[in-house]
Formats: sequence, C-alpha cells, structure tokens
Amino acid sequence: MIIIMLGAQGTGKGTVAGILNKQKGWIQLSTGDIFRENISKGTELGVEANKYISKGCLVPDEITISMVENRLEELKNEDGIILDGFPRNLDQAKKLDEILAAKGQKVDWVMNLETPRDEIIERMMNRRVCSKCKATYNLKLHPSKVPGICDNCGGELIIRADDSDEEAIKKRLEIYDTQTKPLVDFYNEKGIVIVEEISQRINRLAEEACKDFLSKIEG
Ligand code: ADP
Ligand code: ZN
Repeated sequence: MIIIMLGAQGTGKGTVAGILNKQKGWIQLSTGDIFRENISKGTELGVEANKYISKGCLVPDEITISMVENRLEELKNEDGIILDGFPRNLDQAKKLDEILAAKGQKVDWVMNLETPRDEIIERMMNRRVCSKCKATYNLKLHPSKVPGICDNCGGELIIRADDSDEEAIKKRLEIYDTQTKPLVDFYNEKGIVIVEEISQRINRLAEEACKDFLSKIEG
C-alpha cells in the first residue's frame, strides 16, 4: 500500500504518518527527514540540498527523485509506505507513477490534510522535532510528556532551522500553493484523495483524522 500525505507545511503530515506507523506498522518516507539527516551528517547530498533548504526553496527534482527512488527500492518488501513530503510538484508526481508502475505498484491513497492558514503559521512556530528519532511534537497541541525530551527515545527536542526563519516559512507556503496544491487535482482525477481537516479551533486533531482515514480506506 502506497499512501501520499498532502497538505501545507504545519498541517500535521509528520504527526499523522507517525500515528499510522504506530498503528499499522507502515513505514514513513519523509524527504525532509532524509535531507536533514544528510545535512547533519555533512554528506555530499546534504551539502547540496542545504543550499536550497536553508533558503526555503525546493531541492531540484533530479536530486530528490533519485533519492526517493533509491529509498523505495530499499523498502520494496514493506506492506505499507507513507510518502511524507514527496511528491511536491507535478513532475515529481508523474515520475513517481513511472517508478511505481515499473514495480507493478501504484499510489493507492492520498490523504490531503487541510488546516486554516493562520493556525498553520502558529503551529510551525510551536513545532519541535526530536534530534535523534525525528518524531514531531507541538508545544501546544501534542507536547512531549517531559518538556524538551522525546517520548519515544529520550532525545533532545529542537526547533528546525527552517522553522525559525519567518521569511523561509512564508516562501515555503507560497511554493506549496503554486507547486504542490495542483497535485490535489492530479490525484482527484484518479479518485483516490481523502480530505481530512485538522484544526485546533474545531478540536479536530491528528488522531481523529487518522481514525477517519483508516475507516474510509479499510471500509
Ligand atoms: P516542510 O513541509 O515543513 O517545509 P519538509 O521536512 O517536508 O518540511 O521539507 C523541508 C525542506 O526540504 C523543504 O522546504 C524543501 O526545501 C526540501 N524538500 C523536502 N521534500 C522535497 C521534495 N519532494 N522536493 C523538493 N524539495 C523537498
Ligand atoms: Zn526521539
């Protein structure tokens, strides 16, 4: 089963993917996490990717797509894969279809998370990630049990560099609107999109979105 998480930054894609991983054992493939891991290790890929990420720009397709292709090959025996942060534009989506078709696979479902824009900005400011296992937390919505410490692994919680820069945040949201949002139509034509609203204002959080999503795909 291949599931794509769509939705702007800060809608909770990582959180939802984490819940689905715990409940169903599906593997989260987050391009952002892979880039950040490479940046912290100082790999060639990391150095190259960071030129774009630090400015809030997308990493070029040829780098991103071959990285995803390699990772999908490594994960070929998994029952479920949740793509979080990929595809980000139409070219990536088309290329993904080709890569999967060559393996006799396809995108099964797209979970499209929607959150009011003003809540998104606030969430990104309150977002914290585990420096070791990459689990995401939110100081207000789902804080760790012990402040600053990851529930899963005891790692230190940190603020992502690109979340601390307001200009980069705005740029990322703008890129989402122009390049990633059109993917909703692309997948709607295939009839595989399930929209889930996540909003603090109406007290609809990630757990409930997951429950609803699973009930829809599992019937
Ligand atoms: P966010 O969605 O909050 O911006 P991600 O962790 O998904 O964070 O991605 C962080 C950064 O990594 C992005 O701003 C972008 O520069 C880069 N990135 C991640 N996924 C892709 C992708 N599919 N294509 C190009 N760049 C990507
Ligand atoms: Zn952790």
